[in-house]
Amino acid sequence: MSGSSSFAARTYRDDAVVLRTHKLGEADRIITLLTREHGQVRAVAKGVRRTSSKFGGRLEPFMVADLQLISGRTLDIISQAVSKGSYGQQIAAHYDRYTVATAMAETAERLTDSDQESAGAQYRLLIGAFSALARGEHAAELILDSYLLRALSTAGWAPSFTDCARCGNPGPHSAFSAALGGAVCHDCRPPGSPSPAAQTMVLLAALLTGDWPVADASDPANRREAAGLVASYVQWHLERVVRSFRLVERL
Ligand SMILES: [Zn+2]
Repeated sequence: MSGSSSFAARTYRDDAVVLRTHKLGEADRIITLLTREHGQVRAVAKGVRRTSSKFGGRLEPFMVADLQLISGRTLDIISQAVSKGSYGQQIAAHYDRYTVATAMAETAERLTDSDQESAGAQYRLLIGAFSALARGEHAAELILDSYLLRALSTAGWAPSFTDCARCGNPGPHSAFSAALGGAVCHDCRPPGSPSPAAQTMVLLAALLTGDWPVADASDPANRREAAGLVASYVQWHLERVVRSFRLVERL
């Protein structure tokens, strides 16, 4: 221990990705960040909306930066930002990438709002997805669906697209249930469960494991069907997150 001053004790440094920003007062912004070491952080960037701002364009959505922050009672304050990688510009230049990145950032914000434990893993996953998106490695919607499945898995809700998600009966199975966790066998399928095409289940499994040769070769019809199932899976689990927040607030 090197007898740190009270200023040093309140200052910390971390890599962070900008999830969202909103205006505060005349020239400031509140920046919602996902950091490598400190989980989700909401911090004020003072004067960031002035053209002369020392932050330049480094605190825009999807930017990654090495930040220096000062702990505050409710919000932290960003005192320094050094850009790391330029995913943000390459994403913002393409509308499809921008909308996909927005959905990813929103999901990451929801998943790390209360769960600080997996925040480091969520940070790495999001950075990897933004980087793939910025480089245009795969179709944007495939990167999104792969990210969503893996982000939910990281949060503790890993789906199954082969064996039955409820009883473990070896697959492949032809029914899908978001509530039960993915593919379900004939005995477990709730009435009215959708029966996606076999190739759609194969695509979902590939997106979950990152088997890109299989995912890249998939048909548009299977991609559309997979996207709908991923959306229902995400929605089902995120609604539960929101509900559990409400319960926590009432206690
Ligand atoms: Zn079953």
